[in-house]
Amino acid sequence: MNSISRTPAEITARVKALESMLIEKGLVTTEMVDRMVEIYENEVGPQLGAKVIAKAWTDSDFRTRLIDDATEACKELGISGLQGEHMVALEDTDDVHHAVVCTLCSCYPWPVLGLPPNWYKEPQYRSRMIREPRSVLAEEFDYIVPESTEIRVWDSSSEVRYWVLPQRPEGTEGWSEEQLAALVTRDSMIGVAPVEAVS
Ligand code: FE
Repeated sequence: MNSISRTPAEITARVKALESMLIEKGLVTTEMVDRMVEIYENEVGPQLGAKVIAKAWTDSDFRTRLIDDATEACKELGISGLQGEHMVALEDTDDVHHAVVCTLCSCYPWPVLGLPPNWYKEPQYRSRMIREPRSVLAEEFDYIVPESTEIRVWDSSSEVRYWVLPQRPEGTEGWSEEQLAALVTRDSMIGVAPVEAVS
């Protein structure tokens, strides 16, 4: 039996049991657990990835370093941590659009995107995205990728965690990094949405 067939109530009960056991054995404290939850709920999230993307859009040397080794480039901005030991940023162009999935479970680059959304963990997304990404993007995310653009789907794993460097939207010339970062969404870094300039 795997975790997918368990109800949320069963999962909650199991997590509570594990937490109690670890606390009882003196391996963690309640404060440590609370702090970890707080970090991943409030402090680590897609706003960090957005900062990295905005920097890549405005600094071509940084962009090169990001594509070359995303883990090291993120460290320059003080961004690193669990589940981000080997991250790869995939650069979108007019010819190629990248999208990310974890076919096995829900591997995801936590330091830059936080915790994965529920749909990312759904068996439906995980299997269908590999088979027919163009249809999934159009039907599930209202994202119509031009026929002339190839879609490449990358399977994240515990070894390598992918995320997307989306294209900078037109009409944003001269914008500051902060303004640009505000446009970058979690979904655009998973590859299921474009970045759009909003006025
Ligand atoms: Fe996984």
